[in-house]
Amino acid sequence: MRLSRSKKAVLMGTALLTIGVAGRAAAQEVPHHHATRAAPIFKTPPPSSKPKPKPKPKPTHTTPAHTVASHAPKLGKKTGGPAGSHLSTGTRSVALTFDDGPDPVQTPRMLKLLAQQHVHATFCLVGENVQRHPELVRKIVAGGHTLCNHTWSHSLTIGKKPAAEIRADLQRTNDAILNADPKAKIGYFRAPGGNFTPSLVTTAQSLGMTSLYWKVDPRDWEHPQGESDAAHQTRVIRTVEKHVGKGAIILSHDYNQPDTIAAYRTLIPWLRHRYQLVAMPI
Ligand SMILES: [Zn+2]
Repeated sequence: MRLSRSKKAVLMGTALLTIGVAGRAAAQEVPHHHATRAAPIFKTPPPSSKPKPKPKPKPTHTTPAHTVASHAPKLGKKTGGPAGSHLSTGTRSVALTFDDGPDPVQTPRMLKLLAQQHVHATFCLVGENVQRHPELVRKIVAGGHTLCNHTWSHSLTIGKKPAAEIRADLQRTNDAILNADPKAKIGYFRAPGGNFTPSLVTTAQSLGMTSLYWKVDPRDWEHPQGESDAAHQTRVIRTVEKHVGKGAIILSHDYNQPDTIAAYRTLIPWLRHRYQLVAMPI
C-alpha cells in the first residue's frame, strides 16, 4: 500500500514535470541571457565545435525567425515590418518608443513627463550611451519602462555584417545594460534606421529579443533649415495624430531632442484620451 502510493506520487510527479517542460521552449534549461551559447536555437555552430550528438534535427534554416524558440516576447504572428520585425503591439494598445539614449539631459526630462502622465514606454538604448550613463538605465527600469537594444554604436549597416559580428555587438550592448542594472530585462531589439535584415532579426531572436520596427514615424530627429521649434513640434504632433491607430508602435527620440519632449506634453494627453498607452510587454 505504502509502496504503491509512493510509486503513484513519483509517476504523477514525472508526468507533471514532463508537461511543464514540454510546454516551454527547450531554451528554458538556461534561464538567463548569459547562457546563450548553450541554447539550442544557436544557428551557426562555433567554428571550433566538434560534431556533437544533436538532440533533435530541426529545419532551422527554413524556420521563420518568429517561430524560433526563445525567451523573446511574442507579439503575434503578424509582423509587418522589414525582415520579420514588428510594427504593432499585437493588441489594441499603442506603444511609445524612444530611441538612441540614454541622454543625460533629455532622458530624465522624458522620464519625468511620463511619470507625471502615468505612462510607461519603451527605451531603445545605444550601448555607448549606456556605458556613459548607467544610472539612467536603472532610472528607466525603476520607472516601470521596458528596454530595447539599439546596438553598441548605432551602426546603420550592422545588418550587413557577418553573423558573428552582429552577435558580438548585440551581446556587448546587452552586457552593458545588465552591468548597469542586473535586474533589467531586454525583450526587444531595434536596428538603427530600421535597417533590419534576416540575419539581424534571427540573431536578436536567439538572444531573447523580438525585433521592433514602428508604424508611426514623425521624423522628430529631422530639423529642416528654417523650421522653427514651434513648427517642428507641431509637425511631430500632427504626424502622430494623423497616423496613429490601434496597436501602433510610435517611434521618437529622447536623445538630444528637447522638442520631442515638448511635443509629447501635448501628444500624451491626446493619445491617452483615445488609446491605452503601454510599454512593449516583456
Ligand atoms: Zn536610432
